[in-house]
Amino acid sequence: MRMVNGASNSASGRTTPPLPITANTDASKDFAEARLDFSPGLSYFFGRLDKAFLEPGSHVSLASLVCAMAVAVLVLAVRRYRKGRRLRLRTLWRALFPRRIVMSRSSLADLGYFYFNLFLFGIVFGWALLSYDVVSHGVAELLTAAFGARPPTALPAFATRAAITALLFLAYEFGYWLNHYLSHRVPFLWEFHKVHHSATVLTPLTNFRVHPVYMCIFLNILALFIGVANGFGNYVFGQMTHDYVLSENNIILVFFVYVYVHLQHSQVWISFTGWLGRLFMSPAHHQIHHSRDPAHFNKNLGSCLALWDWLFGTLYIPAAKPQKLSFGVEPDRPDAHTIRGEFLAPFAKAGLIIRQLFERRTPALPLAAPERKQA
Ligand SMILES: [Zn+2]
Ligand SMILES: [Zn+2]
Repeated sequence: MRMVNGASNSASGRTTPPLPITANTDASKDFAEARLDFSPGLSYFFGRLDKAFLEPGSHVSLASLVCAMAVAVLVLAVRRYRKGRRLRLRTLWRALFPRRIVMSRSSLADLGYFYFNLFLFGIVFGWALLSYDVVSHGVAELLTAAFGARPPTALPAFATRAAITALLFLAYEFGYWLNHYLSHRVPFLWEFHKVHHSATVLTPLTNFRVHPVYMCIFLNILALFIGVANGFGNYVFGQMTHDYVLSENNIILVFFVYVYVHLQHSQVWISFTGWLGRLFMSPAHHQIHHSRDPAHFNKNLGSCLALWDWLFGTLYIPAAKPQKLSFGVEPDRPDAHTIRGEFLAPFAKAGLIIRQLFERRTPALPLAAPERKQA
């Protein structure tokens, strides 16, 4: 994560000299200009926007959003055609952007988290993130020390790069699945992940509705798994091998973002069944994951693939026909979708869980200490 240039100025201990009484001196002019210089902040703001929306490999690129919308339009058009109904622009608009969803308090909270995670997360929590490069080098060096150096592979470069691309994608998916599984099973972690599940409507912005503590744990687990996989791959091939990327993101992951990842947080029902449903996490798979039906709890924890869910018994293949689902954990609590409820309360609730854990482990003191017998 990149830190903002000059963000730590206020903490550097420098004190501002007092302003002279006469305002028109050069010194006071310089000072006023310096105080009005918003350029580092603005360039950071626009830089982040540019990176997020205009870079083609970004998780939220405009190109991928347009592509996801085209997929949704195509599916809705085919569905209406099969029913012998005409596709009107107004019907399509209402199906894709229902007023009930766009104007909901849940969507507003999604927007707040989108802002936080796009602009502030790196500044506030960048220090807490493990470096994937450090892990990768460490693993490669460890394997070399244990088993000796390997000669560079004779395979063509495209084959080793393709292999490492697939390996890193699988490592990402497994890291994602494991972190998600733990977030559902460990009560302390659930308090932070619950924020994502408290969304009562799903839009592509819901993808950003994640608490920073969840995000920190997730990114560190990813750095660990991807770093280990990369270090292992580099050792096996006897040389540094890079995966195929688009805007620094694994190309296979980018492919899924373009095709259906955005639609996992939407009301458009696209379901994969049969063998396809065992391998890929269709939009309906993830909508099931958000469902309030107890039969759907703790199911479909993967990101793009359903493979790990299938292997570890957490898969729920959705029906082919659209299902009516309701979303949200404790949707009627008064602080739902507020900063207090979705940002601060998880700290307090998770803290309480830790406290209870310690209280249970600490044995109760005896009321009166037994008297020691003199020898
Ligand atoms: Zn979840
Ligand atoms: Zn989700």
